[in-house]
Amino acid sequence: MSAEKTFGYYKEIAARLRLPELAYIDGGFRPASSGRVFENVNPATGEVLGTVAHCDHADVDLAVRAARRAFEDGGWSHAAPEHRKAVLLRLAELVRRHTEELAVMECLDTGKTITDCLHEIGNEVPTFFQWYAELIDKTFGKVAPTGSDALALIVKEPIGVAGLVLPWNFPLLMVAWKLAPALAAGCSALVKPAEQTPLTALRLAELAAEAGVPPGVLNVLPGFGETAGQAIGRHPDVDVVSFTGSTEVGAYFLKYASESNLKPVGLEMGGKSPFIVLDDATLDDNLIDNAVRSAFWNAGQNCSANMRQIVAARIKDDYLAKVLEKTKAMKVGAPLDPATQIGSMITAEHQKRVLGYIETGRREGAKVVAGGGPTAGQGGYFVDPTVFDEVSPEMTIAREEIFGPVLGVIPVKDVEEAVRIGRQTEYGLHATVFTRDVDRAIQVARRLPCGTVAINGFTEGDIKTPFGGYRRSGSLARDNGTEALDQYLQTKTIWISVG
Ligand code: NAD
Repeated sequence: MSAEKTFGYYKEIAARLRLPELAYIDGGFRPASSGRVFENVNPATGEVLGTVAHCDHADVDLAVRAARRAFEDGGWSHAAPEHRKAVLLRLAELVRRHTEELAVMECLDTGKTITDCLHEIGNEVPTFFQWYAELIDKTFGKVAPTGSDALALIVKEPIGVAGLVLPWNFPLLMVAWKLAPALAAGCSALVKPAEQTPLTALRLAELAAEAGVPPGVLNVLPGFGETAGQAIGRHPDVDVVSFTGSTEVGAYFLKYASESNLKPVGLEMGGKSPFIVLDDATLDDNLIDNAVRSAFWNAGQNCSANMRQIVAARIKDDYLAKVLEKTKAMKVGAPLDPATQIGSMITAEHQKRVLGYIETGRREGAKVVAGGGPTAGQGGYFVDPTVFDEVSPEMTIAREEIFGPVLGVIPVKDVEEAVRIGRQTEYGLHATVFTRDVDRAIQVARRLPCGTVAINGFTEGDIKTPFGGYRRSGSLARDNGTEALDQYLQTKTIWISVG
């Protein structure tokens, strides 16, 4: 779709857009109870897009009461699964129908490329609503083996009111990852989009109402972490929180839960994922495309970004030369231009943070061989795709999550050293391994303590495969796959004595 349409075409859509400004609570749009608003900035230009309601604990309380009422009245939670399925299928269709509007809105809000926005919103987001819609009337309980004096049923029930607290890097996609299984399960939901990117979640609420999601079942609360986020985490009547964001904030949610009602907390957090290239890998176009995409996709603002590229020393120079050629050809610039491959950082502050890491890398002795600074001639918060050679595992840039377009090459002498360095991180979200030897690939995959290992291609898997992290990258919760439903369902035993 995007290939035939021009920069001018998307600029025209942008000029006509009506941007949401109000919170969505109990089936209607309303200002924050305090009347406060915050400014929403387009990071590709630095211009203010508009203002948005700044929700705090009073709005969260209102939304929780609406969500609880809707949950208890059963119109959604106790409806036949076929009903929820029909509504969520309609929602998937409405998202498809409004793809361009939502994608342009997300592009303005995030500085992500229009190509990525169109793909995520046109393909992935509706697929999530469709997939969980179709799953929910095929999800069975169990009957336990007993003697003839009993019948023991193991049933699944929606957990209740779910608080979904989200990051800014894939705004609508992260809503879909959590909201689709939560609604399919029969829960009521409070969605707290990141303060940097409130728009598409609010527009989705309108489409959900049009699809038939009843008032109170979905509430969207734009606001800040310390206000709306904390109020959700601490609320005594929120039954579960599913969070995606930084490890630091994930830890706060455990604290909030321990100091309130002990609600279960599902955590999807940061990463420092290795991309391991063993000495027998073929350095073809496919491998190099994967290497570059794994580091620069979404301008590197990706939890599974494979910034740590651990490469057999024997092939390292050849590898680096090929990576450099592709990196230097990448087009950084206006996100609404379909030709752009790398958009802006999310905020001025984040741009500064990424540039700070690049400086630290230089200071600690790594060598910049591409990029290394802000992008010239751009008004917003852009950083050039940056490649470091001569990175060693102890350096700050090899240990901490940069969340920007930075790729570092760490040469290793053999597979043992590659695995040792691959494991040398406090995170455990993702890894990629390239080798032609299937035995070695599987051995390495088994030895890497992370939630997803991709072999011979950078991927997070697809909707059918669970996604989440080991160590400080996550809790036992998983998004995606049938596993995601577990976050939103309780297990009940009903034991019937038979006379
Ligand atoms: P963040 O942790 O700063 O914010 C995430 C959400 O938490 C936002 O909605 C924010 O308002 C809220 N929040 C912030 N401070 C809070 C507080 N004190 N109390 C309650 N809520 C609070 O993360 P971010 O900067 O939006 O996103 C980047 C991070 O997300 C990266 O670390 C990245 O790795 C991670 N991420 C992980 C995954 C995954 O699936 N594992 C996916 C995408 C992003």
